[in-house]
Amino acid sequence: MTGEEIFICRDCTTYSRDKIKCHKCNSPRILKHDELLSLNIAHIDCDAFYASVEKSLNPKLINKPVIVGGGKRGVVTTCCYIARIKGVKSAMPIFKAKRLCPEAIIIHPKMSLYKRISNIVFSKFNQLTPLVETIAFDEAYLDFSGTYQLHKKAPAELLVGLALEIEKQLGITISIGLSENKFLAKLASSFEKPRGFTVIGKSEKLEFIKDLHIKNIPGVGPSLKKKIEKNSITTIDDLRKLDKNILIKSFGNFGKTLWNMSRGIDERNINPASSRKSISKETTFEYNISDFNKLKKILWLLAEEVSEILKENNIYSKSITLKLKRNNFKIVTCSFTFLEPTCLAENIYQTAVLLLKNKIEMAPFRLIGLSTSKFLAEKQQSFTNFKLDSKSQKIEKTEYAVDKIRLKFGKEIIKKGRSLN
Ligand SMILES: [Mg+2]
Repeated sequence: MTGEEIFICRDCTTYSRDKIKCHKCNSPRILKHDELLSLNIAHIDCDAFYASVEKSLNPKLINKPVIVGGGKRGVVTTCCYIARIKGVKSAMPIFKAKRLCPEAIIIHPKMSLYKRISNIVFSKFNQLTPLVETIAFDEAYLDFSGTYQLHKKAPAELLVGLALEIEKQLGITISIGLSENKFLAKLASSFEKPRGFTVIGKSEKLEFIKDLHIKNIPGVGPSLKKKIEKNSITTIDDLRKLDKNILIKSFGNFGKTLWNMSRGIDERNINPASSRKSISKETTFEYNISDFNKLKKILWLLAEEVSEILKENNIYSKSITLKLKRNNFKIVTCSFTFLEPTCLAENIYQTAVLLLKNKIEMAPFRLIGLSTSKFLAEKQQSFTNFKLDSKSQKIEKTEYAVDKIRLKFGKEIIKKGRSLN
């Protein structure tokens, strides 16, 4: 959809009448595009995240070059934009960074702090849309399809508000790319960092990508890059001139992706489930335990914790692994693949008990753990699901009913007999 140009003020979120300055707050930061109201896919990247968090907590650092790094590997993890001007880059050895920027302040990474701030940032993403795909602590894709009904605001307006809120509350900045798919949104977010907001519409996407190197296409790593370059193809425009069948012949299935990407087409969905590889919980005992019933009780608590995370994230797990640490510190694991993916504590627990039964002769144990993996965003409709037997239906109904009551009255209100001592 192309039409009249829309202007949104990036400092007060007003729909501006003027494209040079906001008529309400006079800010010159105007986001303008004629497809602003029809694009749904965003890529958000926090600017120099770790360094920005450090600066937000210590105002004395604001105008100084800050490098977060050192640690075990002795390299730069993140550096602020002042240090970048001096030539400092991520992954550079610290000694080299010091040579380029002797006045830099070097801070050891505080991962738990960054994770805490990241959780706050992501909770803001999740308030806007349930379709958030985590790429890293400081980077995500957001799909705003269908969110207008909920917020009565276009994605662009929500994103402008989000950037302002994060700046105000956390003292860090983000860069936003808004487009029609993941490939273009990611290119857009890197276009005018820091504090950027770039829009790539349908009408200009070819112009935007044509001179870019093929390495900008997702999935083109160093070896594939070499292979493509052998045919004297370096830019996306070179690639676009190739016949689809030749690409498929040379690169198999990925040939079709290359053909698509060279036209700014990206068929990948935003997948909230893909960002997590596994969810696990474990307990180390004060004294070794051999008693099957005692271990079962602990398994139930672990199954409930794992299930809670699955449900919160709206994901279903296909596989479960039981982990046991023996008396001699040796670790034993065993896994089971579910016929149907599940998020129910009862299913996880029942399966874990069977796995434990097979290993109980190895007791005593010093630790027991449960982990689930192989996630799906939706419950797959398998054949068995159509005729879900009445017992599993009952389990499902009961568990969701208990969850509802707990949500209302707190976790402690209902406890299964098996979790009580
Ligand atoms: Mg970043």
